[in-house]
Amino acid sequence: MSAFLLALWHKCVYNIAYILYKKGGGSLAAQKVQQRTAGGIAYTLTRRRVRNINLRVRADGSVAASAAVRVPVSYVDAFVAARADWVRSAQARAAVRREREEAERPELPAKADALAHMQALCRVYYPQFAASCPGGHMPKIAVRDMTTRWGSCSLRTGTLAFARRLCVMPLAAQEYVVVHEFCHFAHPDHSPAFWAAVARVMPDYKQREKLLKMR
Ligand SMILES: [Zn+2]
Repeated sequence: MSAFLLALWHKCVYNIAYILYKKGGGSLAAQKVQQRTAGGIAYTLTRRRVRNINLRVRADGSVAASAAVRVPVSYVDAFVAARADWVRSAQARAAVRREREEAERPELPAKADALAHMQALCRVYYPQFAASCPGGHMPKIAVRDMTTRWGSCSLRTGTLAFARRLCVMPLAAQEYVVVHEFCHFAHPDHSPAFWAAVARVMPDYKQREKLLKMR
């Protein structure tokens, strides 16, 4: 048998074993993820289609190992125990990193304070957008713990929502987000007409936008 066919055959046998294991359901499936301790290291063992044993320390300090179904659990335990020193130093580094991130993160204002702040800011800009606001009146303002967006605009509910962390950004950047979201009432897209509308109210919006990207 050629090396290629042999490799293919091994792969087939392995795949069949894996399918049988998966089909086994119940007790076997329950073993797909196991909590184990070896060499004083608590870790999660996940059975995956990996060639070797993978061991990693996550940002939160937890330890995760993955190994193929055919690797005996005692072998994985020994593997982890032999690397206990490496795991402990990786955990220590992760803890230092977490502490540093914690210290660098600016304290967010209370939600009620953040809301009052954004409402006041929106009231300043509202007169310039009154004609395009739903119903022609001041939109509802909301502050949410958004992490992927600085703001959003809902035409349906007539609401402008802002990320709470926007309140710790430079005021020039906050004003830009307010104008950006107000402009969405007239242009619910990022078309050239939308950006032209933003530029009309805030000619220096590009510089302000950069303040958000620097963080
Ligand atoms: Zn937008």
